[in-house]
Amino acid sequence: MKKIILFLIFLLLIFMVFPRVGLYEFVFDRGEYDDRNESSTEIIKDLDELSPKTKELALEFLERCEENGLDVRITETYRTQARQDILYEQGRTTPGLVVTWTKNSKHTKRRAFDICKDNTDDPYGDVEFFRKCAQIGREVGLTPGYYFDEVQDIPHYELNRWWLP
Ligand SMILES: [Zn+2]
Repeated sequence: MKKIILFLIFLLLIFMVFPRVGLYEFVFDRGEYDDRNESSTEIIKDLDELSPKTKELALEFLERCEENGLDVRITETYRTQARQDILYEQGRTTPGLVVTWTKNSKHTKRRAFDICKDNTDDPYGDVEFFRKCAQIGREVGLTPGYYFDEVQDIPHYELNRWWLP
């Protein structure tokens, strides 16, 4: 009898704890995606290419931005490793500005997207716009690159949970 009670308490604890540590996301945050050539380096802007949880938060983010009069456009979602590698070489071994600091991007894990301001000639010039968006992003549970300590990445948003790889 004692063992059964202990087991029930154990189960109760599991159910109390797991929604918080995100077992759900760990097990289920995996979508079905169209087959693609992973050596393709084209830019992908489709929210359906994000992990289910990232997509859910992205939609919530977009909705709240719209409510606040912020005209957000998605510029990129999922990124093949082939494209990430090319971006990484840019400004290092190939011409251009350095645009990324890592080969190991959340974009390649379907847990990041980039935005810019829509309907403007200067999609990256409005600092206040990005500040407000970042605030909303954080409120819906995303990690905005706006708050990155080392290298600020203003257009970037990612799903960051310590239990997710
Ligand atoms: Zn990004």
